[in-house]
Amino acid sequence: MPKRPMVKRLAPIGVAGKKLPKRIQVGSGWYRVREDMSLVGMQHRGETDYVQRELRISPTCTSEQKAVTLLHEILHVIEAVYLCEDLEERQVKAIAEGLAQALQSAGLYPARLD
Ligand SMILES: [Zn+2]
Repeated sequence: MPKRPMVKRLAPIGVAGKKLPKRIQVGSGWYRVREDMSLVGMQHRGETDYVQRELRISPTCTSEQKAVTLLHEILHVIEAVYLCEDLEERQVKAIAEGLAQALQSAGLYPARLD
């Protein structure tokens, strides 16, 4: 009797769910990452405070949204630190989504952050 072929996994494997990191480094600076209740009810899911060096994520985001929002806010910090501040918001959005998908499909970045 022939062996059953292995089932191909079509969905991205990703990295198992992880917690939001407490801080991340961009250039020589460290940025605190935290959920912020003041973002509840706002139109955006996250924000970056360059003075306080803080990335804030809305606690109402789903775990999947938090993973993409973190990348989005990191891109804003990269813009500021590496002085390429001519990216438009829609471009930051697209790059964050694309980067999340590519890294998650390769198992290098979590699909969910809690
Ligand atoms: Zn943005």
